[in-house]
Amino acid sequence: MERSLNEKCAVVGVFDHEEASKLAYFCLHALQHRGQEAAGISSGDGKQLYTIKDRGLVTRVFNEQKLATLQGRAAIGHTRYSTAGDDSILDAQPVFARYDLGEMSIVHNGNLTNAQEVRDALIAKGAIFQTFMDTENLIHLIAKSDEEKLLDRIVDAVKKIEGAYSLVFLSRSKMFAMRDPYGFRPLSLGRVGDGYVVASETCAFDLIGAEFVRDIEPGELLVFEKEKAPQSIRVFDPTPKHCIFEYVYFARPDSDVFGKNVYLMRKNMGVALAREKPVEADLIVPVPDGGVPAAIGYSQESGIPFEMAIMRNHYIGRTFIEPTQEMRDLKVKMKLSPIISMIKGKRVVVIDDSIVRGTTSRRIIRMLKDAGAAEVHMRISSPPTTDPCYYGVDTPDKDKLIAANMSSDEICKYIEADSLAYLSNTALLQSVGATESNYCTACFTGEYIV
Ligand code: AMP
Repeated sequence: MERSLNEKCAVVGVFDHEEASKLAYFCLHALQHRGQEAAGISSGDGKQLYTIKDRGLVTRVFNEQKLATLQGRAAIGHTRYSTAGDDSILDAQPVFARYDLGEMSIVHNGNLTNAQEVRDALIAKGAIFQTFMDTENLIHLIAKSDEEKLLDRIVDAVKKIEGAYSLVFLSRSKMFAMRDPYGFRPLSLGRVGDGYVVASETCAFDLIGAEFVRDIEPGELLVFEKEKAPQSIRVFDPTPKHCIFEYVYFARPDSDVFGKNVYLMRKNMGVALAREKPVEADLIVPVPDGGVPAAIGYSQESGIPFEMAIMRNHYIGRTFIEPTQEMRDLKVKMKLSPIISMIKGKRVVVIDDSIVRGTTSRRIIRMLKDAGAAEVHMRISSPPTTDPCYYGVDTPDKDKLIAANMSSDEICKYIEADSLAYLSNTALLQSVGATESNYCTACFTGEYIV
């Protein structure tokens, strides 16, 4: 698969509010966990669009002055997740373009699975691309569509793309929000003042005091026009395949995603894990922050005390950000440290949400053993991650996924744990009240939908 750069990201859109770009900024701030590499906002004042985007965290990219230049009552924003090796500013979003109908900006969370075919076909007809982003395909499809109105062009364009997309479009006077027919990635609608807000996660609404209205349905396009209620267009019949990994790792615990609170889902996974994979021990210790809710669930179900015996230094980014293995190793050490007096002589159960390459677990277990733990048992609140995601979660290629290349026993030896056990896929689905038919579990099963 060719490089594509619209992976785990956050999107936001604010419509008909006098502080549109400021609210978009705050929303992006709440959604920073979905992407730390780049951030951007486009706003519109009816006459033109204004765009600022740059590498770095939301607070680095924007300040009062910059936000003041993002005029108008509508704004869309994006935070982008890191991808191996490339940090070109061209690959930050929103993607802005001028075309025959005027100006437009697009933000995208997800990953288009037919991006290369669409791009090749467009290039064969003379299109010139500036970035590696599959989102740029949409710009071309919209610009080249034979339809007269932007709305019809958007419908035309999304019918030519496949895969995962939660999209927000901004024109000079309107905003559009669209979710793919599978609803892989979340996208919710809220009310703020007399206007509207759409965002990848509801934690953004809580920050700006917006009221949650509903999730945008899979296959639904919402059209926002001044002084009108949003118009809903069912472009595709919904066939939900929500991403289970949003619950496992990606979304923020205080968000309601796919209609359910993420923290509670993670706690349920911990309860299920304690039932399915019990172990005799003195302490339950989470890998912060991801493992915390599951560890609380595991502790409550097993009766083994919970302790925050691994501390996290919050002043560095996620370990995945660095492209080289050496930097990732170093970052784990910088990020996590044990409370030796809690751990010494104890049989510890360490809980994390997932093992990807195995680097984090190996480091943590070594750290706990160095701190004097008598035994370290690793429990993972999801199944082995055996397959890469093509729908918007930034997982490495199969050859780097430890569970694709080693058995559980081999992984246990590699990470130097006294035991290792994962939550089964069935128990995972049960703990979030999901079924195989409405959730995508391809990263655990290899069963891809598109
Ligand atoms: P690894 O060291 O490669 O096994 O990574 C496992 C750690 O990364 C766990 O602590 C997870 O919480 C976290 N993690 C899982 N999936 C992702 C992802 N797609 N991006 C960043 N971190 C992740």
